[in-house]
Amino acid sequence: MQTNFSAAQLADPHVAESEKILRKCVHCGFCTATCPTYVTLGNELDSPRGRIYLIKDMLENGRPADKEIVTHIDRCLSCLACMTTCPSGVNYMHLVDHARAHIQDTYRRPLLDRLTRAMLAAVLPYPSRFRAALKLAGLGRPFMGLFEKLPALKPVAAMLKLAPSSIPLASPMAKPGTHAGQGAKRGRVAILTGCAQSVLDPAINDTTISLLTRLGVEVVVPEGEGCCGALVHHMGREDQALASARQNVDAWTRAIEKGGLDAIIITASGCGTTIKDYGFMLRLDPAYAEKAARVSALAKDVTEYLAALDLPEPVRKPGTVVAYHSACSMQHGQKITRQPKELLAKAGFVVREPREGHLCCGSAGTYNILQPDISAKLRDRKVKNIEATGASVVATGNIGCITQIASAAKLPVVHTIKLLDWAYGGPKPEGVSEQGLAAAE
Ligand code: SF4
Ligand code: SF4
Repeated sequence: MQTNFSAAQLADPHVAESEKILRKCVHCGFCTATCPTYVTLGNELDSPRGRIYLIKDMLENGRPADKEIVTHIDRCLSCLACMTTCPSGVNYMHLVDHARAHIQDTYRRPLLDRLTRAMLAAVLPYPSRFRAALKLAGLGRPFMGLFEKLPALKPVAAMLKLAPSSIPLASPMAKPGTHAGQGAKRGRVAILTGCAQSVLDPAINDTTISLLTRLGVEVVVPEGEGCCGALVHHMGREDQALASARQNVDAWTRAIEKGGLDAIIITASGCGTTIKDYGFMLRLDPAYAEKAARVSALAKDVTEYLAALDLPEPVRKPGTVVAYHSACSMQHGQKITRQPKELLAKAGFVVREPREGHLCCGSAGTYNILQPDISAKLRDRKVKNIEATGASVVATGNIGCITQIASAAKLPVVHTIKLLDWAYGGPKPEGVSEQGLAAAE
């Protein structure tokens, strides 16, 4: 694509980076076929190619964002299916991240939208605030029907719908410290305890620590780590996202210097995609660029790490039929497609892949709150495809997808690690009925 940026504009490294990306796009439109919003809405401006044109026009003319561009960029899930499809290697992720930051800097949203976004950014990344907010959700639930009828309050209704009615206790295992590996030492890793996941399902990290230590891996929970920054990054709040990134880079650098790390284990693929991008996000900060690149190189999804570990034979071979839902951040963001399915199959599960596996479930960070109508359409489509597999349980590697799919599916939805842990001698996953897992034994 031809571009017309001035030398002065290209002096801004963010604009220069976006210009490089724009020039790679040959407007072939292949990406439109796999874009969930184009498939759902049928509007070119809600396709990757349409958004790329809008972003180009805004940046090239040095214009502040307007209502039209905000509407179509807000509808983008950042699922990155377009990057998997694109034959020209267009880095849509970095382009849309830049556009979102530009929107945040130049556009004044309507009051309720501003308040909702400010509240999400102030609550979700902080486990204690998020826990308190979930407790308060019970008070708002009786008014959910009313909120749903008022367009401006639909995000509040969506939040109430997604909030679980009971909140698990905080994990004692996820406190800073070291969990020694059993038997011969096979590695030393740090684990990201994260934010929303540690409140909604603390057992995911507990199970990961338990399985890894049983396999001989020492697991460090570093002092000072926190939210990876993905949630606010996708809202264009760059300063907040970069502050989170720096905090984590510091925490993991201390752990590296103290005893070395073979990997930084991430159990939510949405976080994994962002942490693997820290090197890029902090490339312009001389104090952090090198450290951030080192952290990104060490970041591994837990299934990616386990697949390289040469696992022993499982203790049980359940034979249970599992529908594997590949989160967008797993398959498109990190290109991890093979390892989770192979691990499940090796552990004795029968793995089925739902149709249209490339399409997003509609979770996408805060998308299911901020765009509840499109999100619900994508969720229902996903659930229909999952249920058509005839599986008795759904496995996936991202808490957002677990919450989203579980809000409409009839079958249990669990993190992949819980099924693997069960096969390798751990307890039956919480929330899955004995019958569900035993049915195919
Ligand atoms: S597939 Fe790639 S090159 Fe083709 S229009 Fe989409 S982004 Fe541009
Ligand atoms: S990130 Fe997903 S929703 Fe956004 S343009 Fe690409 S395919 Fe479409």
